[in-house]
Amino acid sequence: MKIRIFFSLTFVALILLSSCRGSLEETEYQKIRSANRMEKNVSRKSSNHLIAFFSEEIPQKDAYPWQKIDELKHPFITKEFFRCKGDKEHPSYLKADERIFDCNGFERHSLPLKDDKEFVYPVLISLLNHLQKTLNAPVTVTCGHRCPQHNRYCDTSVFNSTSKHMIGAEVDFLVQGYEKKPEEVIDAIMSFYKQKEYEGKEKYQSFQRYQKNDLNVSTPPWYNQEVFIKLYLAHEGRDYDNNHTLPYVSIQVRYDSQSNQRVTYTWQQAFYSYLRY
Ligand SMILES: [Zn+2]
Repeated sequence: MKIRIFFSLTFVALILLSSCRGSLEETEYQKIRSANRMEKNVSRKSSNHLIAFFSEEIPQKDAYPWQKIDELKHPFITKEFFRCKGDKEHPSYLKADERIFDCNGFERHSLPLKDDKEFVYPVLISLLNHLQKTLNAPVTVTCGHRCPQHNRYCDTSVFNSTSKHMIGAEVDFLVQGYEKKPEEVIDAIMSFYKQKEYEGKEKYQSFQRYQKNDLNVSTPPWYNQEVFIKLYLAHEGRDYDNNHTLPYVSIQVRYDSQSNQRVTYTWQQAFYSYLRY
């Protein structure tokens, strides 16, 4: 019984103490408030509004970098556009006694690798984005990287067996709205080398024509130090990836300006430089 009375008294004492402390703090607060109080007459004209009214609309912000790209109305070209267009659903076909099958598609193999990373020659990506910007029209990549199996599926000819598509150094494409005027596309490619960074680089700025008649095009290709441009007319260069009736342009990389080396097809690079999943 004594213990219960002791606890009850302690509890009451705690409540009294805490309430006293609260009222002390309150008094102190009131003192500070009165000491700092300033009283001033406020005058205003009848035309002054007591409350300022702000627009409820959120102000316009400068565009983010990707929004500026969107303004061009076409997506920015990346190496993703170059992935192999093979597909295991594509029907097999007979070539002499051999049945030709397509690859399993880009979900089952990578792009070519360089330093353990997926790689497409950067100048191809830069050129295609330059075309989109210069011509203000979207580019369609019909053929970027081709794994060796898809390359053979597209075209079994000996000529195609050393295609630079297999090493990420060639691209076939169309520019929407320019399908019937590919010469304007070629002019736009050349304009890429008129940019400031190529000033004084004569080998990049001047293009020559390839005159030997040993290729699969009738129009003499154009080339400079870095790239080789082929124009396929409507009846030329048809294969599984370019199975349409329009002229198209192909760009090959001749020279890697980063490593200062010629770019040529090698069997090892084509067959052993990409991952299978
Ligand atoms: Zn493939």
